[in-house]
Amino acid sequence: MDVRVRFAPSPTGYLHVGGLRTALYNYLFARKHGGKCILRIEDTDRTRFVENATENLIENLRWAGIEFDESLEKGGEFGPYVQSERFDLYTKYGLELLEKGLAYYAFDTSEELEAMRQRLQEEGGSFKYDRNKMRNSITLGNEETKRLLDSGEKYVIRMKVPEDGEVKFNDIIRGEVTVPCKDVDDQILLKSDGFPTYHLANVVDDHFMQISHVIRGEEWLPSTPKHVLLYQFFGWDTPDFAHLPLLLNDKKAKLSKRHGDVAVEDFRAKGYLKDAFVNFIALLGWNPTGDREIYSMEELIDLFDLSKVNKAGAVFDLKKLAWMNQQYLKELSTAEAVPVLKVELEKAGVANLRDEYIGKIFELFKERVTFIGEIPEMTNYLYAAPSEFEEAYMAKRWKADTADLVRPLIEKLSTLSEFTHDSTHDCTKAFCEEAGIKMGELMHPLRLMLTGKSAGAGMFDTMALIGKEECLNRFSSFLARKEAGEL
Ligand code: GLU
Repeated sequence: MDVRVRFAPSPTGYLHVGGLRTALYNYLFARKHGGKCILRIEDTDRTRFVENATENLIENLRWAGIEFDESLEKGGEFGPYVQSERFDLYTKYGLELLEKGLAYYAFDTSEELEAMRQRLQEEGGSFKYDRNKMRNSITLGNEETKRLLDSGEKYVIRMKVPEDGEVKFNDIIRGEVTVPCKDVDDQILLKSDGFPTYHLANVVDDHFMQISHVIRGEEWLPSTPKHVLLYQFFGWDTPDFAHLPLLLNDKKAKLSKRHGDVAVEDFRAKGYLKDAFVNFIALLGWNPTGDREIYSMEELIDLFDLSKVNKAGAVFDLKKLAWMNQQYLKELSTAEAVPVLKVELEKAGVANLRDEYIGKIFELFKERVTFIGEIPEMTNYLYAAPSEFEEAYMAKRWKADTADLVRPLIEKLSTLSEFTHDSTHDCTKAFCEEAGIKMGELMHPLRLMLTGKSAGAGMFDTMALIGKEECLNRFSSFLARKEAGEL
C-alpha cells in the first residue's frame, strides 16, 4: 500500500504548536516510508473565516522545514487543497447517503434542540440527538417531510447511526478501540446553509485523496467512530488511524492559549532557532532512541516509528525548550548567526558594525545565552563606554590602593603596538610577575573600568574587542572620576 498522509488544519489564524507536531509527524512518516504528505485546508466552517490564515499557516510550516507534496490546485509550488473549493463534492456524497437511507432530514429549530438538551440533562442521559422524538424525516414520514421541504423549511442532514452493534477500529498508538453504536451521535453532515460539516468533508476527502493513514491529535478520537461508520456507509476502505497524545502545560493541564504561548509564530518572535524548536516538537510524545535528545531532521525521518509514540499526554516543558535552544546555539555557525545578531543589534540601536566584529561577539557570547537576542543588552559596553558601574562589584573589587596598582599596568598596555588577546595577556602576565602580584587580582579592576559589570567574556578577549584607544580612554576617565570622588 502506498503511504499517503495529510495535515488538515482549520485556518484559525495561527499555527498551534500541537498542529506543528501533527504536521511534523505526518511529514516524518511519509518521508520514512517513501510516501506522500499533502496539505489540506479544512475551512468548511465559514463563520470562523480568518483573513490570511492559510498564508500564515503555510509560512510557519515552511519556516519549520516541512514540505508538502502535490500542489495541484493552486498551481503553485506549495498550494494546498482547500475544502471550500470542493463543496459540490461533499453535497453530492451527503445526498447519496440520504438516498441510501443512511441519512435523514432534520427540521429542528435551535430552540427545539436546546429544549431537547435540557430534557436529556434532567433525565441524566447523554447529549445525543434524540432521533425518535424530534422533528425529522424519520418521525414525520415522507409526506410531511416533502411538504416541509417544499415550503422552504430550514433543515440539516444527519447521519443515521445504527441502533445496535458497535464500531471497531484499530489505532496504531492506542490499539483496538470499540464504541457501542448507541453512544455515537447522529452527526450533522450538511448544515442548513448547505455547507458540509468537518466530519463529512474530512471523510470524503480522505477517501478521494487516497489517504492511507490518518495521523492527528487525540482530540479527534471521539469523532473517529462517526468517521468509521461513514466509510462503511459509503462502502469505502477505512484508513489506518493514529491519534497523537495531548500536549500538556507544566501543570499537566491541556496546553491552551489562555496560559501562555501556543502559536509557532510567538516562539519564532522570541528567537528560538528553527532546528532547536523542531527537534523539541518532535520529542513531544516520542523519543527515537531514549538515550539522547538532539536529532537532525534526517535522523528523525530515519528513526520515525508511529507505533512507538506514547499514549500519555506530553508535557510542553519550556525549560527543556530553552536548553534545546542553547544546544543548537552553541553549534550554530558564525556565518549563520551574524545576520540574526545584526538585526538584534540594530533593534537595540547599534548599527554600522562590521560582520567580522559581530561574528567575534557571537563566538564569545554564544555559550552564555539562551537567545541571540540577549546578546546586545549583555554586551552594551562593547558599543559605548559604561555609564553605570555595579555598586556591589565596585565595593568588593576596588580598594584604596587599586588605582596605584593598575596605573603602571595601564602605562605598559599603552605601549603595545598590537592590541590582541595574546599581546594584552602576555603584557599583563609579565607585569604581574615583575610586580609580584597575582594576575587574578588585576582582572576585576580592569573589568570594572572597562565594562562596569561583574560578568562578561574573558578579559583579554574583551580588551581586544574594545580596542586600544577606547580601552585607554575608559581607564583614564574612570581613574579621573574616582580621584574626583564622582564614583
Ligand atoms: N481540521 C481538523 C483540525 O483542525 C483536522 C482533524 C483531522 O486531521 O482529521 O485539526
